[in-house]
Amino acid sequence: MKSSLTDFANNVRASADIVDIIGGYIPLKRAGASYKGLCPFHKEKTPSFNVHQGRQIFHCFGCGVGGDVIKFIMMQERLDFRAALEHLARRLGIPLPEITTRSEDDGREKKYRALREINNFALKYFRELYESSEGVSAREYLKGRGIDSDLAKRFAIGWAPDRWHDFLDTAVKKGYSQNLLLEAGLILPGNTKGSFYDRFRGRVMFPIIDLHGDCVAFGGRILGDGEPKYLNSPETDIYKKGRVLYGLNLTRGQLRGNEPALLVEGYMDLIALYKYGFNTAVASLGTALTEEQARLLKRFTKEVIFIYDGDEAGQKAMLRGCEVLLAQSLSVKIVVLPESEDPDTFLDKKGAAGFQSLIEKRMDFLDFFIETGRRDFNIRTPEGKIAVLDMLKPILDRIHHPILFNDYTFRIAEGIGLEQRLVIQHIRAKNAGVKKTADEAIQKHAKEKIPPLELFLVRILLDNPELCPKAQETLELEWVSSSVLRGFISRYLSEAQESSDFISIEENASEEEASLLREATFISSPLPNASPEELLRINLERLKISHKRRHRRHLVQEVQKAEKTIGVNEDVLRMADDIHQNSLDICELREKLFVGE
Ligand SMILES: [Zn+2]
Repeated sequence: MKSSLTDFANNVRASADIVDIIGGYIPLKRAGASYKGLCPFHKEKTPSFNVHQGRQIFHCFGCGVGGDVIKFIMMQERLDFRAALEHLARRLGIPLPEITTRSEDDGREKKYRALREINNFALKYFRELYESSEGVSAREYLKGRGIDSDLAKRFAIGWAPDRWHDFLDTAVKKGYSQNLLLEAGLILPGNTKGSFYDRFRGRVMFPIIDLHGDCVAFGGRILGDGEPKYLNSPETDIYKKGRVLYGLNLTRGQLRGNEPALLVEGYMDLIALYKYGFNTAVASLGTALTEEQARLLKRFTKEVIFIYDGDEAGQKAMLRGCEVLLAQSLSVKIVVLPESEDPDTFLDKKGAAGFQSLIEKRMDFLDFFIETGRRDFNIRTPEGKIAVLDMLKPILDRIHHPILFNDYTFRIAEGIGLEQRLVIQHIRAKNAGVKKTADEAIQKHAKEKIPPLELFLVRILLDNPELCPKAQETLELEWVSSSVLRGFISRYLSEAQESSDFISIEENASEEEASLLREATFISSPLPNASPEELLRINLERLKISHKRRHRRHLVQEVQKAEKTIGVNEDVLRMADDIHQNSLDICELREKLFVGE
């Protein structure tokens, strides 16, 4: 069945409850008709992130972001519209329809599919060779490293024979184009024009599988002493190095609940852990853990345990890794391996029980780095203390929770023999620049505050589109001080409002308007028991009064200015008259208003 993306989106919106979905990412507390929490998109200590169950939208009064449940997933998971829809659909158990899209999307989608298909084909090809008589040396090698055929099968380990064209010829015979093979990084151009050869030769092949179960890339380990030891697929349209975690396709199922993820560096580390039954492991493949990888982990776990080499490079990688993991509010622990051991060799010597006790003795990341600092620097000297603080600073910069920050700085102070006050001073000193820009951004947003009365008018109209004709009859647009809202209200009133489909109204609004519309949704009613008609009447009266007051303020300023510069003349006297009349009007309006109430 073909359906449009819009139908699919509506279906997803109808099945998702925004409070449930967002509540799965951040704790939400009920506050009247809406829910509140700490905004995941800007740093804040008091909640200004609101979720409205009735309207199925979210809005942050701190940084101004907002939208529907799909928008939230797009921002939170960093997905495009289509991918966010599919993500939600999978979570909600909605079958993915075959969707008609623009031809441009079709072309791109087709290419991705082709790239996945050729990689899946290569996986099967290498896999078969591994199990054949050709693969005997690969099997011997892995057997030597304790990997039996079951484990090899589980990780779909393959063998690329040490020949120049075998894979290329087979793939072309199967109908795959050289262009596609080239784009997938499976072949390379040769010296003569139009000639190509296999990228992976004489290597044990580790396929990298994405979360949909498709092979997207390979890592190939040379047998013997050749260089490089590991050769990887280049980045392609379907494979970006810092965006996948090796093994997550298998591990994801084990990470439900509170299981911590065991983070290792390489293919063999991960497979060794699986061999001994530690199947909550993932490998970062490459030393620097990226923000995307941290986000990926956050989808499946709350705690990450580093199991990296204890050498200097490993430590640096962990320090950087801590930064990105802490930024995702993940709890970070570190397993310390004995010197010159990696997970693989340690497991073979001490077995699962030995490794388990190592995991149980895992250190809090901060204790680990304080200890590292005490060992690597002479903390009896001020220079040594400063060096430790500078090492820890990038991590502390990521800690925004005041209680955590206090606890961490206290422990550091204890650890290196310094007053906590000085630790905080040192960390904050160099921070000032960074913090200011964030504050400025928030202040800039806060400056564009709109009178609640005007926002409430919008809410009444959105909630009760049938009142639009009445409003149009009475409202003078100049009563609305915000030019953005004035524009929206005038448009909204002039279009016949048949339904109050907030999402489509918001979609058709400018970004600035949309943000205000969402704000309006969260404005609470000053008179919860009044009828909509009554609310509208009172709101319009009040708008009129506040407009008159604004006008009076303006006149008073003009009079003062004129008196200072040109003295009292006829114009000034007329303005003074106006002010008097204006005051009388306001009194009258106020009386009317209170009688009405
Ligand atoms: Zn925010």
